[in-house]
Amino acid sequence: MSGTTIEAIAAIRAEYGPRELEALRTYGDVAAALEAAGLPTYVETRGGLALCSMAPDGSLLVVASEEALPSDRSRLSGWHLSHCPEDGPAARWRCIVHDTVPTTSPAGACGDLALEPLIAAAQAHLAACRRHEAA
Ligand SMILES: [Zn+2]
Repeated sequence: MSGTTIEAIAAIRAEYGPRELEALRTYGDVAAALEAAGLPTYVETRGGLALCSMAPDGSLLVVASEEALPSDRSRLSGWHLSHCPEDGPAARWRCIVHDTVPTTSPAGACGDLALEPLIAAAQAHLAACRRHEAA
């Protein structure tokens, strides 16, 4: 992993305000699991709460749910993990890596919230994805 990546993440973390710290208390186990998998992770609150993990090539894995992550985790209905080249609403490409959010179930239904498949999907995808090389 490059020093630039670590410095970039450290700079983002240094700017954490109350919303980011609150999110870290709520989703700290998810961030820790991603970090343990070698993916430095930060909290993103612009445009809704998400966790962003930086891959060794600088592309991002974004952990959200049906839309943003709910601030109340008891309202989380599933994970939506995507892979994109940069942090922004108009990414040049986006891979859907892992999606456990129920689409046809009634309101209140809940998908798989286990972290192990989420992390495994992230690692398998980064090993297989070739889009970032073409970007
Ligand atoms: Zn990808």
